[in-house]
Amino acid sequence: MENKKAGFNTICTHFGELKDEKYKGAVSPLYMSTSYAFDDVEVKRYPRYFNTPNQVALSEKVAALEHAEAAMIFGSGMAAVSTALMAFLRAGDHVVLQKTLYGGTYNLVTEEFEKFGISYSFTDGLKPEDFTAKIKENTKVIYIETPSNPLLTITDLKAVSSIAKKHGLVSMIDNTFASPVNQNPIDFGIDVVIHSATKYMGGHSDILAGAVASTKEHMERIFQLAKNFGGSLSDYTVWLLERSIKTMGLRVRAQNENAQKMAEYLYQNEFIQAVYYPGLPSHPDHELAKTQMRGFGGMLSFELKDGIDSYIFQQALKLIKSSMSLAGVESTVLSPTKTSHSLLSPEERANQGIVDGLIRFSLGIEDIEDIIADIEQAIAVAVK
Ligand code: PLP
Repeated sequence: MENKKAGFNTICTHFGELKDEKYKGAVSPLYMSTSYAFDDVEVKRYPRYFNTPNQVALSEKVAALEHAEAAMIFGSGMAAVSTALMAFLRAGDHVVLQKTLYGGTYNLVTEEFEKFGISYSFTDGLKPEDFTAKIKENTKVIYIETPSNPLLTITDLKAVSSIAKKHGLVSMIDNTFASPVNQNPIDFGIDVVIHSATKYMGGHSDILAGAVASTKEHMERIFQLAKNFGGSLSDYTVWLLERSIKTMGLRVRAQNENAQKMAEYLYQNEFIQAVYYPGLPSHPDHELAKTQMRGFGGMLSFELKDGIDSYIFQQALKLIKSSMSLAGVESTVLSPTKTSHSLLSPEERANQGIVDGLIRFSLGIEDIEDIIADIEQAIAVAVK
C-alpha cells in the first residue's frame, strides 16, 4: 500500500507491510536474520544499520502516520530521544527545553549534557515568549513535549516552530502523549517528532521501543549517530510493534472517548479538587488544544479534596491497576510524586504544579461505566 493519503486506520493496518510472495500469508513475514549478503546487493543490511526488511517496513508506516518523509525505530523511547538530541548538538552548543518534561529526558539533559560540553536552559513557562527568552547565540535546538506529563499543559506548536525557523534552530517534540492519532506536529512546522513507542504505539504494556520521524535529510543525520550509538530494536519486537500499530487508531480513539467521559465525571464529583484534561472547557489551554489536536488523548490527572488520602484511594481500586507506565489498553493510575517525578526536589515539583496528592490516570479501553464504578467505590473507601 503506497498512498499516503489513505485514511489513518488504513495506514495503520497496511502501510509498509511486507508481501509474503511465497506463501501469500496475510501479515508481514518476520525476517530475524542478523546476517545478509554483502555482494551483488544494493543495500548492506544489518539490524544496527536500521535497515532489515521489518525495520524498513515499520519505519515507512511510522513516517506515513506522522506525515514525515522518513522514520527510524529504536530500542526504547529514551534511545530515540537521546539519539535525536545528540545528532544536532555538539560541544559548545546550547539547547532550549520546555520546563515540564518527561523525567527521563530531564535526567538525560541534567546528568549527561555537561560531560559533552552542551549547555541547556529550561523555559520558565510554556508561552512563546518563554522560549524566545532563553535563546542564545549558540542555541541549536528547541525541545518540547505537548500535552505535558502529568498536568497535560499544551505548548503552541505553530508558535514554537516559527521561533525555531526565525532563529535557524531545529525544533523537536516528544509526541508520545498525543500519539499520531491525535496530533501531527510536522503539519505545524515542527522538524523532528519523537515517540516512546512503548506507550500508544505498542498499546499493550508489553513492548519497549522508540521512534523518530522527520525529513530524509534530518533522518540521515540521526542515522549517522544511531548506527554508532547502537540503539536499534530487535526484529521480533519490530514485528510485534507493527502488529500493535494496526489497532492504534481504534484503541486511541476509544481511550480519547473514555478520558473525556472520565474528565467530565470527575469534574462534577464533590470529592475531587481539580481535573487536568485538555478536552475540558475549564482547562486553560482548551482553545489552543482544539487548534492543534484532533482528539484530546487518553491521559488526565486529578487531585482529591484535602483530607482524602490518595494512597488509600489508590489501594482501594479493584479494576484500575497502579502502574509506572501508561497508554496500555488497561486503565492505570500512578502518583507522580512517588514515581515519574520522585527525583525532582519538592520545590521543583511545586514549581511545576505537582502536588503530593496528584493522581495521573491513563484511560484504557474498558467500558467507561466499569471504570467509573471502580473510581466511585475507591472514593467511598477513602472518604470513610
Ligand atoms: N517520553 C515520554 C513522554 C514518556 O512517558 C516516556 C516513558 O515513560 C519516554 C519518553 C521514554 O520512553 P521509554 O521508556 O520507552 O524509553
